[in-house]
Amino acid sequence: MSTSSQFPTLRVVSHPLVQHKLSILRDQATPTKIFKELVEEIAMLMAYEATVDMPTQDVPVETPLESTVGRQLRGKKLTLVPILRAGLGMVDGIYRLVPNARIGHIGLYRNHDTLEPVDYYFKIPGDTADRDFFVLDPMLATGGSAASAVSSLKRAGVTRIRFLCLVAAPEGVRRLAAEHPDVMVFCASLDRELNAQGYILPGLGDAGDRLFGTR
Ligand code: URA
Repeated sequence: MSTSSQFPTLRVVSHPLVQHKLSILRDQATPTKIFKELVEEIAMLMAYEATVDMPTQDVPVETPLESTVGRQLRGKKLTLVPILRAGLGMVDGIYRLVPNARIGHIGLYRNHDTLEPVDYYFKIPGDTADRDFFVLDPMLATGGSAASAVSSLKRAGVTRIRFLCLVAAPEGVRRLAAEHPDVMVFCASLDRELNAQGYILPGLGDAGDRLFGTR
């Protein structure tokens, strides 16, 4: 995992498997089925890194040969919160790694007058205190949706939030860090910039369309 002094909240998962899979994901010729599988696999590998400091506790275990002490995750169950709709593509991969995770959902649309994101759907588990939340969206572009999703979670009482994406734009990382400096961002790549339409360059195109075949 690499860090940069320019982006103190950002962690880039530079593992060779992640980088290999990301290159296939970027390729415009990659079909929907493979794209979806790769998003799941990269999300799983990213979650492996994003959970590296989760607390554990001793647990007694009976092996077939003797008693021993193992380790298990301590505290309340992790909650995954995909931002609809592209964030949904990251859920299954992480859920396979953390099968007792809870899953919330946040739906946002952009108000045409203010250009600011507005929640149209918000559902998370009730007991938010002391739970770790992973907000999921493959693309951290302008940072508007990400910052809004994090604000909504904080209003609901959530305190421990990490943001997992596949590709981040510098603009989005800066905006999220400015509004929520306590939220660490994990990505597979920090790309160059946004274009005038808000797409990340070089990016991978519209993640939702490529995931669900609506291109
Ligand atoms: N959302 C996407 O799906 N792709 C981008 O490049 C930016 C935002």
